Amino acid sequence: MKNCSDLCSDILTCGFMKKYGETKKYAIKGFVRKYCNGKKQGACERIKFKQNYGVSPSENLSPIGLYLYDE
Ligand code: SF4
Repeated sequence: MKNCSDLCSDILTCGFMKKYGETKKYAIKGFVRKYCNGKKQGACERIKFKQNYGVSPSENLSPIGLYLYDE
């Protein structure tokens, strides 16, 4: 079981997590594992975006800074 301190503090409100948190897609699951539930949340481009612009980015902005689009 994950320690709560391993989880991103924005995990309950993050648009990316709401849309993609339960995805079956391997690459996106990797983002969630490494960033949202892992050690790289300090490098999340969504957090940087919010700090820079004062608003939350599109739900399609991934933690690595690439935009995802529905198929
Ligand atoms: S995408 Fe970024 S802001 Fe959203 S839960 Fe994951 S680490 Fe946190």
